[in-house]
Amino acid sequence: MEQPKQPKIITDKNEMREWSRSMRAQGKTIGLVPTMGYLHQGHLSLLREAHKHTQVFVVSIYVNPGQFSPNEDLSTYPSDFNGDINKLMSVPGGVDVVFHPHNLYDYGVGSVGNGEGGVEKEGVVSCVKDGGLGHETWVRVERLEKGLCGKSRPIFFRGVATIVTKLFNIVDPDVAVFGKKDYQQWRLVTRMVRDLDFSIRIIGSEITREKDGLAMSSRNVHLSTDEREKALSINRSLSKAKDAAEMGQINSRDLINSVIESIQEAGGRIDYAEIVDQESLKAVEKITSPVVFCIAAWFGKVRLIDNIEISS
Ligand code: AMP
Repeated sequence: MEQPKQPKIITDKNEMREWSRSMRAQGKTIGLVPTMGYLHQGHLSLLREAHKHTQVFVVSIYVNPGQFSPNEDLSTYPSDFNGDINKLMSVPGGVDVVFHPHNLYDYGVGSVGNGEGGVEKEGVVSCVKDGGLGHETWVRVERLEKGLCGKSRPIFFRGVATIVTKLFNIVDPDVAVFGKKDYQQWRLVTRMVRDLDFSIRIIGSEITREKDGLAMSSRNVHLSTDEREKALSINRSLSKAKDAAEMGQINSRDLINSVIESIQEAGGRIDYAEIVDQESLKAVEKITSPVVFCIAAWFGKVRLIDNIEISS
């Protein structure tokens, strides 16, 4: 039997760069799976997908403060670094490097943010105020960042695009794998890579679900047993909508209304429920081409997102 591979753990960005350069010098192709840790089978499925495309693999574990607003859950985001390493080692073929930087916004010249109006966690950069802080360069994907999750999380995708750019510059991968669970994020990164001429292939990998259909998420750990049961209404109602659409019910409003009703009846609070074009993410009224039905809903204090692709 194959011995589990112990990954090299790199915390320093210069060391990370050197490793990637040495791999390139040996002619090896590099795959990157960016994560915020507290790994589950969904994350591991991205690593398995990466195995199909490159020869060596980096998983980054970094909770990016730049994508959280002050009122969001940065301080309670779950972590279990040792558990994460064990999970990564359980995947056949494993991972070569776990890149686990302490603070990717600390430039070492007394430039760390003062936390004013932003997030104060171990001196990390404020994600809200641009002025007067050490970090002031942000990447924006102007239209795609605005809809869906961007409506209630206005700085979220600016933070995502910026950290993904930083990771791409540090790790210099040939391929990066993102989950379709975060559909808008996957599309936005794909657009950014095209628009900014990154020489990186972006792969969208399918959603991994629990046996009962709940999309796996690091945040599920914060659901009570009761909330978790209620949250099953998301996938159930989305699956019903998909079946109905594929049977010929192509009016988006009707499908959206019945999903909203099911989730609210179960006790969820809808953030958004939209049927959008799979690529442009623009809302569609009638389903006549491939779409994706995207949902964000609160169960208790936990905001869950999910989606289902529907072919016309
Ligand atoms: P996160 O750690 O939540 O930032 O997620 C890191 C990556 O894993 C992102 O590309 C997510 O889309 C992906 N991911 C998270 N949950 C799932 C899931 N249930 N199925 C597939 N991919 C996922």
